Amino acid sequence: MGSIPSGPTGDIMGVLECARRDCENIMCDRYSPEYGYICDECFEELVEAGPVDIESFMGTRRKRPVPDIDWYSHYNEIFPDR
Ligand SMILES: [Zn+2]
Repeated sequence: MGSIPSGPTGDIMGVLECARRDCENIMCDRYSPEYGYICDECFEELVEAGPVDIESFMGTRRKRPVPDIDWYSHYNEIFPDR
C-alpha cells in the first residue's frame, strides 16, 4: 500500500480545486498559470463583474444567493398596522 501524498489542506494535487476564497468547487476546467483553477460559477461571476482586479476577485467570497425575504412581513413587524 502506498501512502497518500499529504499536503496542506486545499492544496491536494489533482483535485483541480477552485482557487477562489471559500469556493469549494473542484474539478475546474479553467486554469490560469498565474491564478490557478477557477470553476464555472466563479468564472461567470468574474465575467459579470467585468473590469475587476483578478487577484482581488479571487480573494472575495462568493456571492451568496439573495435570500428570498418577504419584505412586507419584515417591515410589517417593525411597523405593525395599528
Ligand atoms: Zn469557484
